[in-house]
Amino acid sequence: MLAETIRDFPMFIDGASAESSTGHWLEVHSPASGALVGRVPSGGSADVDRAVAAARAAFEDGRWSRSLPERVAALSRLADLIEANAEELAALETAQTGSAYKLRRYSDLPFAIDNLRFFAGAVRHLEGKAAFEYSGSHTSFIRREPVGVVGQVSPWNYPLWMAVWKIGPALAAGNSVVLKPATATPLTSLRLAHLAAEAGIPPGIFNVITGRGDVVGAALAAHPDVDLIALTGDGETGRKIMALAAGNLKRVHLELGGKAPFIVHADADLEAAARGATAGALINGGQDCTAATRVYVHGSVARAFTDRLAELFASVRVGDPMAADTDMGTLISQAQVDRVSGFVERAVQAGARVLVGGGRPDVPAFPHGAFYLPTLILDAAQDSGIMQKEVFGPVLVVRSFETEAEALRLANDTAYGLVASVWTKDLGVAMRATRELNFGQVLVNDHLMITSEMPHGGFKQSGFGKDMSMYSFDEYTRVKHVMIELTGERRKPWHWTIFGDGDGQGEGDGADQSDGAKS
Ligand code: NAD
Repeated sequence: MLAETIRDFPMFIDGASAESSTGHWLEVHSPASGALVGRVPSGGSADVDRAVAAARAAFEDGRWSRSLPERVAALSRLADLIEANAEELAALETAQTGSAYKLRRYSDLPFAIDNLRFFAGAVRHLEGKAAFEYSGSHTSFIRREPVGVVGQVSPWNYPLWMAVWKIGPALAAGNSVVLKPATATPLTSLRLAHLAAEAGIPPGIFNVITGRGDVVGAALAAHPDVDLIALTGDGETGRKIMALAAGNLKRVHLELGGKAPFIVHADADLEAAARGATAGALINGGQDCTAATRVYVHGSVARAFTDRLAELFASVRVGDPMAADTDMGTLISQAQVDRVSGFVERAVQAGARVLVGGGRPDVPAFPHGAFYLPTLILDAAQDSGIMQKEVFGPVLVVRSFETEAEALRLANDTAYGLVASVWTKDLGVAMRATRELNFGQVLVNDHLMITSEMPHGGFKQSGFGKDMSMYSFDEYTRVKHVMIELTGERRKPWHWTIFGDGDGQGEGDGADQSDGAKS
């Protein structure tokens, strides 16, 4: 299942492969077999400087930022090249993450391709506001411009796809990018850089640097010549990046964690909800910021719903990530398995019950694989760690409620605000939930669904700023007000503030109207 030959994957700076100034390498291992999948340079701050300098020079050159047709064509070609190489990319993604090939090949890849095609088209519709004479004597209009050099730091859960979410709007809007993929999963992002060059994205416009987050990622976030830093990652990392970004007051865009509630009302289609909760909780082994993590089900149907959920959880096939009949592969690492089982053990010690799973499965072909069973937990306290913290594993907690208000209160009782779903056939209940739930996306009768045309991004400690959709251009463009004086008069009406001693209303003030000086 792994790449036949172990390859070195150098960084990609200024249109060419680049080794690190440190001379050190990091190994990427399969979380299933433990085999070496590839090696990447362990970069240092000198590599960040080199990549940022290349990105700055390419941006200032203006060829990329000023040629919309070139950007549209190159991003469209990149989407085509990803499509043409989808099998290889999906296999490489599976090798470095251990999650099921079917997810990578038939979900991540098609979505990533669609995202890029969306941005290649959407950028044609980017516009400033229509011109108007707001002052009476000037024409104002808005220019939307790229921000400049964009630093982007991506996570390990959907490595290639999240890289595409990041670079799509940034490149389409005319910026240059330095991307730092997660330390555990840099390989597909490096392949992406080569495909981007093949697609015609000019040298220096898209650079990929590798290494440790607290070294390379931190240097990128702190760099004085980076205009914007975007992170998809953990809240703690977000806090560090915000602090590092303060040095030159660069823009910050944070897509952080989630703790999605899943509310099931008594009138819901219980079979649809049980399937939705199973797929919504277990996708990518639960290592998904939008995964369903907390089910609140009405007391009158709690037993029936939980029984069905238990059957569905037990039916999920865990095993060889590359096998066609595998639903769930490994988690990202043994450390992640330890973290997840720690949450479960602490919940049990505090009185929660494990209905399904709660341990490591026996997968004979991969005795040391980072597997964890789909796990269903009952009776966990609302204020416990498993209810409040991001577990990022295949674990779903179920608890019941009695009133609509209680369900909404429990759902909103979290530091996060990324995604929530509500399951009901009652339009009023659904509409009230969409208003009351404090999350960046609220779904009715589904969970996890997203689309390129609509924004993804959180409230509260899930961060700020949007990925996907036209809204993401708000992050990656700056708005410039252009104001053109129309009268040609040498002495403007507002000059009374300096020339003269009146208030603009009287004789000798040199003003025949008082529209005030705008500062
Ligand atoms: P992480 O924060 O550990 O790592 C994310 C990236 O930040 C990596 O590239 C890492 O190398 C880098 N990094 C780590 N420390 C850094 C530092 N001090 N300075 C700069 N960069 C640093 O997150 P992860 O474990 O890779 O990913 C999982 C997290 O991402 C979860 O919390 C998940 O919810 C979140 N996530 C959010 C979204 C979303 O859209 N909101 C999507 C996917 C994942």
